[in-house]
Amino acid sequence: QDDDFHQQWQNCKLAGKRRLRQLILEECGVDFDTDMLFDIQVKRIHEYKRQLLNILHVIHLYDRIIKGDTYAMQPRCVLIGGKAAPGYDMAKKIIKLINNVARVINEDPRATPWLRVAFLPNYRVSSMEVICAGAELSEQISTAGKEASGTGNMKFMMNGAITIGTYDGANIEILDAVGEENFFLFGLKANQVESLRKSYNPLQLISDNENLARVIHLIESGHFNLFETNLFDSIIGAIRHPDDPWMTAADFESFVDAQERVGRAYSEREQWTRMSILNTSRSSHFS
Ligand SMILES: *Cc1c(COP(=O)(O)O)cnc(C)c1O
Repeated sequence: QDDDFHQQWQNCKLAGKRRLRQLILEECGVDFDTDMLFDIQVKRIHEYKRQLLNILHVIHLYDRIIKGDTYAMQPRCVLIGGKAAPGYDMAKKIIKLINNVARVINEDPRATPWLRVAFLPNYRVSSMEVICAGAELSEQISTAGKEASGTGNMKFMMNGAITIGTYDGANIEILDAVGEENFFLFGLKANQVESLRKSYNPLQLISDNENLARVIHLIESGHFNLFETNLFDSIIGAIRHPDDPWMTAADFESFVDAQERVGRAYSEREQWTRMSILNTSRSSHFS
């Protein structure tokens, strides 16, 4: 709670954000603004890790911006990075969707004061050294029950990022260490995921949630692939499938709500700094 310590903490994070901005400028050609929230998901690209859920939220923010609904919106820069196995077709498609969405948003002057998006290729340990020091929000959003532990989550926590995450893997221990008030928890728990499987109805979820319906419509209408017809059909098909093992549609609403809480918390600078300090100090558990 010491003001001077808070100031030093913020200076330290700002220095980390500046180095990360430089890396993203050099490797992605996208200019992040260090006054905006740095929202980061870097890890291997896999459906269970749900980079797709992250990009659906990005599209939702973009949809809000283009319809003029920016009231109380926290400006943010979203970085998604990671490698996919060469033969993993769906993972490659998800990378392509992220890149296409990023291009549309970054070229739209209505959007860039609120939202910037970059995909980082060749994610590796030497880039993580720069990324974790500059991260403010750590995305750990796997389908509950699927992540054995994760280690990226710990690296971010130790560097003062606050986690938005599901009740999965070592997120559970992070949550234990920092308390719910210093963590943005969302989504189904592992037992809820399993019991929902029998009756999972993504079409109903989509038609019941206007935000999700609009996001799906934007993708389906070709907004992000004007000259690449049908490119994302398989992604839409996977979200709509009642056997979708990752249940992306099930956690969308809860994820968007948690992201709203993130935005509000970030605008309370002192509260956010306190949360950040507590995350670092309680990360000794993972030493
Ligand atoms: C930490 C790290 C990982 C593991 O990240 P998870 O989020 O736990 O999957 C993978 N690759 C690199 C380069 C890392 O630094």
